[in-house]
Amino acid sequence: MKHALKKITLASSLAIAALTSQSAQAEGRLTIYCTVQNQACEDVAQRFSQKYDVKTSFIQASTGTVLGKLKAEKDNPQADVWYGGTIEPHFQAGELGLLEAYRPKNQANILPQFKNLMSSSKGEYTSATYMLVLGIGVNTEKLAKLGLPMPKTWDDLLDPKLSGEIQLPDPRSSGTTFTAMATFISLMGEEKAFEYLKKLDQNISQYPKSNLVTTNLTRGEITESIGFIHAYTTEKEKGAPIEYVIPEGKVGYALGGTSIIKNARNLENAKLFADFVLSKEIQEMPWRDHKLYQIPVTVDAQASEKSPEPKKLDLIEFDFDKFGSSEEGKRLIDKWLNDVKLANKLTK
Ligand code: PLP
Repeated sequence: MKHALKKITLASSLAIAALTSQSAQAEGRLTIYCTVQNQACEDVAQRFSQKYDVKTSFIQASTGTVLGKLKAEKDNPQADVWYGGTIEPHFQAGELGLLEAYRPKNQANILPQFKNLMSSSKGEYTSATYMLVLGIGVNTEKLAKLGLPMPKTWDDLLDPKLSGEIQLPDPRSSGTTFTAMATFISLMGEEKAFEYLKKLDQNISQYPKSNLVTTNLTRGEITESIGFIHAYTTEKEKGAPIEYVIPEGKVGYALGGTSIIKNARNLENAKLFADFVLSKEIQEMPWRDHKLYQIPVTVDAQASEKSPEPKKLDLIEFDFDKFGSSEEGKRLIDKWLNDVKLANKLTK
C-alpha cells in the first residue's frame, strides 16, 4: 500500500511538472489544490485517477494560502479544482470571480441544516463537502504539570498560568483561525472579540501553520491549542495524551468546501471531481480508511461514531454573507495583524 502511494506521489509530481510545461490543451488530467490532510489528498487523487483514467495531481496547502494562489493566478490558473479548506474563503473567491459555476448533483442531498446555504447563490460556485467542529485541544500531561483543570469556556484560555502555553494558526494562511475569529465575533460582537484575541495573544507562544500547531501540542511543546476537534481525536488514537473540549455555549464550526477554479484547463474532469467528492464513497473515505474524522455532510453518507452528530450541536448561525465577503475577510485579517499580533509585540 505504502509502495502504491509512493508511486502515485511520484506520478503526481511528474504530472505537475508535465502540466506546467505543457500547453493548455492537456487532456485526461486534473490538478487539485487540496486543503485536507495529506493522506486524504493522496487517496482521493488516486481513487479519482483510477476510476476515471485521469492523470491526477495535487498540491496540498492551507485555506488562506490557496485563496492567495487563486488571486495571484487569476489570469493563468495552475489548478482545476479546490478540494477542502474552510468555506468562507471559497465564498470570497467566488465573489471575486475566481470560480466556475457548477452544482454537483449530490449537492441536493446536503444535510438539512445546510440546505438553505447551498440553495443560495453561494452554492452555485462552492459545495459544502464536510464539516469540522471548533474546540480546544489539551495536552493532559502538560495540563497536570501546570496544576490546571480542563478548560470549559473560551475565557479559560486567558488564565495567566497558560502564558506561552497556547498556539493557534496564523489566520493569513489558516482557515482554522478565520473560523475561530468568525466564532468569537458571532458570540461576542467584533469589539469584544478583538479584546479577547488581544488578551489571548498574551498567552500565545507562536502562530504557526495549522498542522504544526497540532504537532506541537502532541509533542508537549504547548499545553492547549485552538483547532478543529477531529484532529485531536486522531492524535489521541495514535497514543498522544490529548483530549478536546467543545467550549460551553453556541458551537463554532466550519464547512469544508469544494469549488472549480475559473478557466480551469480541465473543466470536465473538474466537474467529475466535484461530483466525486460528494459521493458516499469519498464522503466516508477519511474516517473509514485513514482515521480522519471530518464529518460527512450528505444524507446518504454515514458518519463515524467518533464524530459529534451535527444535529445534536447548538451551532452558531454564521452570517455567511459577512464572512464570505472578500473585503470583510481582508479587513478582519488585517485588523488581527495590526491590532493583535503587531500591536502586542510592540508593547511586550
Ligand atoms: N480541512 C481539514 C480537513 C482540516 O483538517 C483543516 C485543519 O485542521 C482545515 C480544512 C483547515 O486548514 P487550515 O487552517 O490549514 O486552512
